[in-house]
This record gives sequence, structure tokens and C-alpha cells, in this order.
Amino acid sequence: MFSQLQNSKIKFCSYFLTLIILTACTERSDLKDNTIIESSIGHQKSDIFRIKKSMNNPKNTGSTEGTVRDPASIDATIKHFLDQILDDNHHHMRTIKKEEYKKFKNRQSPRATVLMCSDSRVQTKAITKMDVNDLFVVRNIGNQVINSSGSIEFGVRFLNTPVLLIIGHSGCGAIEAVLYNVDVENGCIERELEPIDVTGDSLNDAVIQNVDNQVEFAMRKFKKLVEQKKLLVVGAIYDFQDAYKKGLGILIIVSLNGDKDPSIILESEYFKGNKNLVTIK
Ligand SMILES: [Zn+2]
Repeated sequence: MFSQLQNSKIKFCSYFLTLIILTACTERSDLKDNTIIESSIGHQKSDIFRIKKSMNNPKNTGSTEGTVRDPASIDATIKHFLDQILDDNHHHMRTIKKEEYKKFKNRQSPRATVLMCSDSRVQTKAITKMDVNDLFVVRNIGNQVINSSGSIEFGVRFLNTPVLLIIGHSGCGAIEAVLYNVDVENGCIERELEPIDVTGDSLNDAVIQNVDNQVEFAMRKFKKLVEQKKLLVVGAIYDFQDAYKKGLGILIIVSLNGDKDPSIILESEYFKGNKNLVTIK
């Protein structure tokens, strides 16, 4: 798709960008890490991380807490993970339909660009049975358009996906961190959370607010394509906690091209007659 010259330019830019980001992150992390190390005599660093957050944030439900691992079991975890991915890969190779794969060997043609949170509990198998070449998936913490702008532009403008699906989720740690002002103790993470703009007292509402904000941002970004009806921007929530009381594991549609009125969503040409459609109200 890109010429060789363009590829080299991209590689060149990526190299310097990575260098700048790494330097910035290292500087800020070092500064913060020193503070933690000084006050963490006799504790694992991750324990301090959790304690500080719990103390500062009585409303913290736990979604923002990191995973604490027993140092003695780390090697076994790594080995098990690597064994498993190679095993699963061999299973994948055994079950591959060669003829099917030939169709997209040289070109991808996804129908949707999907922006999701990186949360490990949120996976595309919750919304599709298609295994390959259907979703151009972009992920980051808090499913934010601005933090993966280039990838989303690639999906929408180069791959011409007619749908941009932005999926937030119940119990999102990124949203919770911003809503309850959790000190994440890491400059890089702080910077990535900075664009999230949510207020109020309810995590469920804040998750919706964030999806609305992301849809709004995307609508401005891809205004022309939306007006030309070449792109539909869909906002959704994946609820693996049944936090919205609509069903465990359900995908709730919260907006369509920025329109949040459930009756308008229901009557739209895209959802009319769809018995599986669930909206937020
Ligand atoms: Zn999340």
C-alpha cells in the first residue's frame, strides 16, 4: 500500500518518536519510582502501589489495582504462557482452511475499525465469530481515539471500513482512575489517561460519557466521511459485569453517529427490526 520511500520515512519517524517517548517516560517514571522505592522498605513495589491507591481512593472498586504476583511463580507463569501460545498456534495451523486464507493473503478488507480498551477481559470473540480479515482492531487504555489516531485513520481512510465501532466496557480501570483521581504513579500512564474527560459519581455513567466523548471526537475527525454516508460511527458498551442490568456479556449500543436517543437508534436504517438490539435506556 505504501511505497518503499514512504515506508522508510515512517520507519525513520517511528524511530525518533519512540526515542522521544521512551526518554520522556523514563525521566518521569524514574522520578516517581524513586519516591516509591524510598518509602517501600520491606515491601514489594506493587504492594505499595496498591496500598497508596486504596488509601487515596475509598471509592476504588478494584478495577484500577494491578495484579500482584508471587515472585516464586513468575518463571512457571512465563513458561506456561509460552507453552500455551505455541500449542495454540499449532492447533490454529492444523485447523486452518487454506482456501479461505488465500482470499486475503495479499490484502486485508475488514468491514469495521474497532476501537476497544486494552482490558484483557474485553475480547473480540464477544462480538464476532469471524476469525480473520473482518475487524481492524485498535486498542488502548480507555478506548481513546486521540491516543491511537494513526491506527484509526489507517482503518477508516486507507482500509475504508464503513464502520468505526468504539467499545467501552463495564468496570474500566482507566475511566475509574480518572473519575476517582487515582494516582497511577507512572508518567506514561498519566499522560495516556489525561485526555479522558469524565465527571460525576458513577463509574457506569462515566464509561458511557467517555464513549460519547470518543464518538464526538471521531465525528469531528471524520466529518466528511460521515456526511457522505461512507462511515457510521457506533458507540457501544461491552458489559461483562451485568453492571447495566441488560444481560451478562451484552453489547449495548449507546450512540449512532453521535445520536444517543434509543428510539432514533432503534428506527435507524441500520438497526430497524434487529431483535438483538439493546440500548442504554
Ligand atoms: Zn478499560
